[in-house]
Amino acid sequence: MSRTPKLIMLDLDGTLYVGKQPIPGAIECIKQLRERGISLRFLTNTTTKPQDELVAQLRVMGFTLEEDELISAPVGAKLELLSLQQQLRRPVRIWPVVADSIKLDFSEFSWDEKKPDYVVLGDIGDAWDLSLINRLFNVIHGGAELIALHKNRFWQTEDGLKADIGFFVAGLEYVSSKNARVMGKPNRDFYQRVLDSAMVSAEDALMVGDDIDSDVGGAQLIGIKGCLVETGKFRRAYFEQSAVAPDYLVPSIANLLSVIA
Ligand SMILES: [Mg+2]
Repeated sequence: MSRTPKLIMLDLDGTLYVGKQPIPGAIECIKQLRERGISLRFLTNTTTKPQDELVAQLRVMGFTLEEDELISAPVGAKLELLSLQQQLRRPVRIWPVVADSIKLDFSEFSWDEKKPDYVVLGDIGDAWDLSLINRLFNVIHGGAELIALHKNRFWQTEDGLKADIGFFVAGLEYVSSKNARVMGKPNRDFYQRVLDSAMVSAEDALMVGDDIDSDVGGAQLIGIKGCLVETGKFRRAYFEQSAVAPDYLVPSIANLLSVIA
């Protein structure tokens, strides 16, 4: 890197740890980055665990971090709402349609299911039904904006594949003729909120992850350099045929210091 980044964004799963085991050298690497005065943000698309629980998990593994350094998709949505609130110069009303476990991430906003400014849409499991869809359609059609915690198409469960909330996000976008702001990696609104949280511009940041599309490609979309690690979900064959070219490729997070000068 031509100059040392001011901010390093780190993917969690597959980059800092696999399962419950830290990648060898990861804890030491984080320590050294801090000693160099580099700001850190820990990013995850997880939508069903609150910020404090995610931080606690990392601490149990041996990582040192402050609570506000961890930015999950719900925390990204919270930062987005705070930024919108600032632009509007008034408190915003929200309708959080999210897992009960993360509702506390949105406790600082007033909740209003009748006339919200923003609907925040996340994972609610089997709670979907047509009456909820129609209530959501009506508030969005009536002026509320949609913030989605992600827009994944499907996911793997023990019983096979299941349609994910992308189904409902895309459906609500279609019937309301409006586009959702989608949080989580690889979306630009999400990466922008992370940059803003550290008051760093894109060219002074580096994103490190094991997912060439979501971590590296997503960050590069807004001018953040991307470093791919060969751990976690990294597969050489997929990397070699990918249209995304990482700015750096390292065997693991333990080698990160060699690329940041
Ligand atoms: Mg990962």
